[in-house]
Amino acid sequence: MRAIRRFTVRTVLPTPLEPLGRLAMNLRWSWHPETRDLFESVDPETWAAVGRDPVRLLGAVPTGKLAALAEDRRFLARLQVAAEDLDDYLTGARWYQTLPEPGAGRPDGAPTAIAYFSPEFGITAALPQYSGGLGILAGDHLKAASDLGVPIIGVGLLYKHGYFRQSLSRDAWQQERYPLLDPNELPLTLVRHPDGSAARIVIGLPGNRELHARIWKAQVGRVPLLLLDSDIEENEPFEREVTDRLYGGTSEHRLHQEMLLGVGGVRAVREFCALTGHPQPEVFHTNEGHAGFLGVERIREFHETRGLDFDAALEAVRAGTVFTTHTPVPAGIDRFDRELIARHFGGDNAAPGVPVDRVLALGAESFPGGEPGVFNMAVMGLRLAQRANGVSELHGHVSQGMFAGLWPGFDPAEVPIGSITNGVHAPTWVDRDVLELAGRELGPDFGAGFGEEGHGWAALDRIPAQAVWELRRTLRAKLVAEARVRLRESWKQRGAGDAELGWTEHALDPDVLTIGFARRVPSYKRLTLMLRDKDRLRALLLHPTRPIQIVVAGKAHPADEGGKRLVQELVKFSDGEDVRHRIVFLPDYDIAMAQHLYPGCDVWLNNPLRPLEACGTSGMKAALNGCLNLSILDGWWDEWYDGSNGWAIPTADGIEDPDRRDDLEANALYDLVEHSVAARFYDRGADQLPSRWLEMVKHTLVSLGPKVLASRMVKDYVNSLYAPAAIAARSMAAEELAGARALADWKAEVRASWPQVRVDHVESGGIGDAPEVGNTLDLRVFVSLGDLKPTDVEVQVVHGRVDGGDAIVDGEVAPLKPVRRDEHGRWFYEGSLALDRTGPFGYTVRVMPAHNLLATPAELGLIAVPTGDEGVADGLPLR
Ligand SMILES: *Cc1c(COP(=O)(O)O)cnc(C)c1O
Repeated sequence: MRAIRRFTVRTVLPTPLEPLGRLAMNLRWSWHPETRDLFESVDPETWAAVGRDPVRLLGAVPTGKLAALAEDRRFLARLQVAAEDLDDYLTGARWYQTLPEPGAGRPDGAPTAIAYFSPEFGITAALPQYSGGLGILAGDHLKAASDLGVPIIGVGLLYKHGYFRQSLSRDAWQQERYPLLDPNELPLTLVRHPDGSAARIVIGLPGNRELHARIWKAQVGRVPLLLLDSDIEENEPFEREVTDRLYGGTSEHRLHQEMLLGVGGVRAVREFCALTGHPQPEVFHTNEGHAGFLGVERIREFHETRGLDFDAALEAVRAGTVFTTHTPVPAGIDRFDRELIARHFGGDNAAPGVPVDRVLALGAESFPGGEPGVFNMAVMGLRLAQRANGVSELHGHVSQGMFAGLWPGFDPAEVPIGSITNGVHAPTWVDRDVLELAGRELGPDFGAGFGEEGHGWAALDRIPAQAVWELRRTLRAKLVAEARVRLRESWKQRGAGDAELGWTEHALDPDVLTIGFARRVPSYKRLTLMLRDKDRLRALLLHPTRPIQIVVAGKAHPADEGGKRLVQELVKFSDGEDVRHRIVFLPDYDIAMAQHLYPGCDVWLNNPLRPLEACGTSGMKAALNGCLNLSILDGWWDEWYDGSNGWAIPTADGIEDPDRRDDLEANALYDLVEHSVAARFYDRGADQLPSRWLEMVKHTLVSLGPKVLASRMVKDYVNSLYAPAAIAARSMAAEELAGARALADWKAEVRASWPQVRVDHVESGGIGDAPEVGNTLDLRVFVSLGDLKPTDVEVQVVHGRVDGGDAIVDGEVAPLKPVRRDEHGRWFYEGSLALDRTGPFGYTVRVMPAHNLLATPAELGLIAVPTGDEGVADGLPLR
């Protein structure tokens, strides 16, 4: 029978146990093992049965048991310690609080608050609101911000079904399930008005419809995470479904989600801050383009509350917005039909002060190769943010090339997209056994030090090789045990009976070199590259003395048939009776599985098509556990591989034919595994230890440990993006937003005058026809500035080594000085260049807009360079 109404009865904890409720509702437990121990001790069996989820535990423990615990003095003492520890964590001064004092003119610029928007957040398996790396990164960002005391508010959506759960059919075809998540059974509280009623936000949709949402709050340590939920009675059935699942549905459905996230998210932040007294954010950070409409909403706000026109509001918004792009894969970029956007931001749903044509222009692909009918969220992200970054150095460079069309006339290296390399939250991802060994060998403080960059990582080198090897074996054995359980469950789901499954008890071997490969299954990640030569792989798996074993996991996007075929191909290979004890596919990759996988593997394999992996983070999590990386030089590995912290798979990225490229790279992979990786792993000394392997393990920890941390990443964001953005936003806001108005007017003037700006004439002297090191080149440049003044521009000389095609490589830039205006109205600039190195040398001059509120001179995308028609005179005597 179907229930006509559904609700959830919440546990009422006996008074002495009330702190347990607070500990359960603050997700810090997910990275604080002592708190988890406490929950386990409430009822170990129930704890295991509910998948180590404190909220579900408290719902499932019998009342009698709770009553007994309420009288158990030893338990209550432990509870008090845990509760006090959480209070200390929440209230004490942390890194951010040691920065110079807040307030106007705060010298370091650290913002009073930052809003961090993301379509997904992966914090714990108990709150399944993520699909992969983007979400996990967002979760790690919030956790590290919490540890550092950075005042962030997370903003996302609460998906009623989250992302799908994966299983396999008998025929190895991916099956998807979308279990219903009841928010009342999740670690969430409703944001409420003082009278107890639920806070609501509403946004408009075309056809005079409305989309309402309530606001759930997950508490991530010190950081509130607001999740919007449209499944409420105020909505029509269609609108109720907006937050049904992550990345499903039509493009209109996706747009509604993104409008709710961006527009609704800003409204939720306003509401939350008003209700709680939390400071309003000075900086808005959009993690990938999906939340980009937050900028449109803020333009509307500036119009409504401060009377700014679109252009001035745009400047005010840009100053305080940070945009992080996450993918160099064109298919990964979020794009909509222009008509769809026009319908949602125009007509009866247009907002005052936000003309629809201006919105459309923000996402227009108005560059060579762009599609006229398309609205591009990444492009809008770049136009709405004064500061933008990729997520590794290589990805930063690739993004500069990818979006160079938005800055015509600029070299890709000058496209204003920087990079901050991703990091991972050590307290979440380092296995407890690893922390405990470090604590035993190096003193109890070290465990905590895994969260900090400066903290004595070199000391790890002192841990005896024997202890490291024993740890590696323990971790591998734990993974093998876990994998056997999961393998058996998977086979049962595939329809096998117990009698057929005896072999699973011997699948994998705790003493065999273990390679892990787990990630989403888009084609560029090449799940099946290892199958390129099946015989060769089989030989590696079954090698008589130096075998390898492989643990594989990954979900294909539900709409990606090709990805599902890859999963099927891999599973079918691993079903083979000859190899099934050496290669296993574990369905339903998620955070819980990942936490076993990274520590238990000896080698973490990554073989994307370079340069399509923006960063990759799973290898970082593996490295923090002493697992060695074996990877194509892409993303973070391109930056931090040093020749002895793992292996680089040679890439054939110049080869056009994809089949041939796969062949070459797969062969290189097999060779490396056989001759380097397995050879070293099985090279045992008289003490039975693989000493060179263990040196690599220690070197990995010591050298990569401090770099791959999310705390390093969040500090980088604070120092190089959040603080400058806050300073810029304050400059705009000062004196009733005079800065924003002035900057908008100035930009309009510069744009209007720019067609008249040109380099008329360049003269140089001071060197003969055989220049030598030590000579000084004198430059005189005549430029026309139209109606602009020298204070509106900078005239620069760019100089440096030139390549065969006369292009200046890694040029340096120096400003020239305006001297006077000549009788034709041209401005005369001069300067000099010291020739300080030998070899081919070249220079050019250029004019760019200059204003103290610009983040970079490239911001307007305007540049004037010599066209070749102007006179260039060399060797003339000057003065
Ligand atoms: C870390 C992680 C990812 C991301 O891994 P990549 O290396 O970026 O592909 C995906 N899923 C889970 C469950 C993770 O923990």
